[in-house]
Amino acid sequence: MSGMINEFEMAQRQFDHVASLMHLDPQVAEFLRWPMREYHFRIPVRMDDGTIRTFQGFRVQHNDARGPNKGGIRFHPAETIDTVRALAFWMTWKCAVADLPLGGGKGGVVIDPATLSTAEKERLCRGYVDIMWRNLGPRTDVPAPDVGTTPQMMGWMMDEYSKLVGQYTPGVITGKPLGGGGSAGRTEATGYGVIYTVREAMKMLGIDSRGTVAAIQGFGNVAQYAAIGFVEMLGGKVACVSYWDREDRCAYTVSKEGGIDPHFLMSITDQYGTIDKNKAVAAGYKIEDGEAWITKEADVLIPAALSGTINAETVKGVHERVKIVAEGANGPTTPEADELFKARNIFVIPDFLCNAGGVTVSYFESVQNDMNYYWTKEEVLSRLDTKITTAFHGVVEMAQKQGVFMRDAAYMVAIDKVVKAMQLRGWI
Ligand code: GLU
Repeated sequence: MSGMINEFEMAQRQFDHVASLMHLDPQVAEFLRWPMREYHFRIPVRMDDGTIRTFQGFRVQHNDARGPNKGGIRFHPAETIDTVRALAFWMTWKCAVADLPLGGGKGGVVIDPATLSTAEKERLCRGYVDIMWRNLGPRTDVPAPDVGTTPQMMGWMMDEYSKLVGQYTPGVITGKPLGGGGSAGRTEATGYGVIYTVREAMKMLGIDSRGTVAAIQGFGNVAQYAAIGFVEMLGGKVACVSYWDREDRCAYTVSKEGGIDPHFLMSITDQYGTIDKNKAVAAGYKIEDGEAWITKEADVLIPAALSGTINAETVKGVHERVKIVAEGANGPTTPEADELFKARNIFVIPDFLCNAGGVTVSYFESVQNDMNYYWTKEEVLSRLDTKITTAFHGVVEMAQKQGVFMRDAAYMVAIDKVVKAMQLRGWI
């Protein structure tokens, strides 16, 4: 969403590159480079003042060879069909690389949720389901939260779907609130998953995690739990996080000598991810411009905001100390920036491997919904660790065997699995 790149073209470029490295049948590649289905629709919502406002919605189902489509719904003012296509495409590879029996999908609504009242948000969520419900379902397509959507919104959507089908159907959507069909550990899942991959990368590279420094972009759900995990699981320091300031309409980097305290910063962050900078400054934090995060002297960079933020320009500022880039966001690094990481021998943990923790616990959530039996948080997180660690080593093995960059290896592992499922089903 940098405004400068088209995410879907970028995703197709990554795919085309790997398809040729793998000598993938061009006819199969042609099928995989586009979504199988997409829905474009208009949602009428009655606003609190009595007027009707129309919202543009999308749902893209990229590939369901391995199972029901899976992926979040994003509420963002800069959403386009191409961002949703790219995100759905990456979901197919994400589920395959994590070995989840699911396909890839994604939804979006062009809206800044912070401009809506709670009641308007509820009507928009229900309106989305009213239009899409025939093409959603536990065995069809299972949405979840993403940027701008929350567990409460998933609860409303699940309720609307259940009313329409006449049956309580928690498995139609994941990321629901705890006590409302949600899974323990889902909130932490994506950020902790990022940290499990960083832990494995450090072991592999012979780095002692204690005393290492991370610079994080973003302070939404993924960044918050990645920051907590980096400090509490790895014994490292987080030099900074960044965030979008809704009032000033720009991003800031928030840092502190000796490392930030993620719990304190969370306590002064609103539901849309805006940090109260006056309180931060009063507590001794420094506020810099939004791009300062990438130039920090750190061992690990964790982009955990939007796509295209590490590009030909910003990548020039990356400090020479950086050894690992862990992509908490979807699509944060452009192909031009990837080239520089390759040249500098920086170890990249690619997005759809690095941030697969969220959808992995979403999968566990739907399994628990099916069983109507719920696991403890410890059980969920230990299963998550096993899944992510196994996926990480599968990709490392492929990278070593084929002598390729981690992103290319992750695509290879995932494409192999999806192609195999398509063959087994007789599609190709
Ligand atoms: N929106 C998250 C992602 O990009 C989670 C998807 C899910 O849980 O289905 O991976």
